[in-house]
Amino acid sequence: MLKDIIEKLRSKGCKITPQRRIIIQSLIKFTKFPTASELCNDIRQTNPEISLDTVYRNLNLLIDMGVVNQINLPGKDANVFELSLEGHHHHLVCLGCGAADCLDYCPVDEKELQKATGLKFEIIGHSLELYGYCEKCKALSK
Ligand SMILES: [Zn+2]
Ligand SMILES: [Zn+2]
Ligand SMILES: [Zn+2]
Repeated sequence: MLKDIIEKLRSKGCKITPQRRIIIQSLIKFTKFPTASELCNDIRQTNPEISLDTVYRNLNLLIDMGVVNQINLPGKDANVFELSLEGHHHHLVCLGCGAADCLDYCPVDEKELQKATGLKFEIIGHSLELYGYCEKCKALSK
């Protein structure tokens, strides 16, 4: 996985700094999607010199490069991050426990939307999260 991501970054002309490599390695390790500060705490165990600022800066770059996705959690002041090689997809976010799941389906028709917005605005992308309750949280509420 690390190799694929580094290859993708190289093919886009992105320099693989030690910090970027560490951030990607840490993202691979997480079993749930981490917030930037969870990611930072994990990285600091081995690299105490890395700041949250650095993590944010590099995450944003990795998002621009298309190897990391940002998922917005509602009601919380937090986004979580995932590595992404599969390309465009969406997420199911649980309002109970905050768990996020990938959904390999895109219901958005940008061409149709472009017709609705007309020439005033050019659509170049979108992000969409679906909010609800996971099986575990649904069972708890009964
Ligand atoms: Zn849940
Ligand atoms: Zn995903
Ligand atoms: Zn989509």
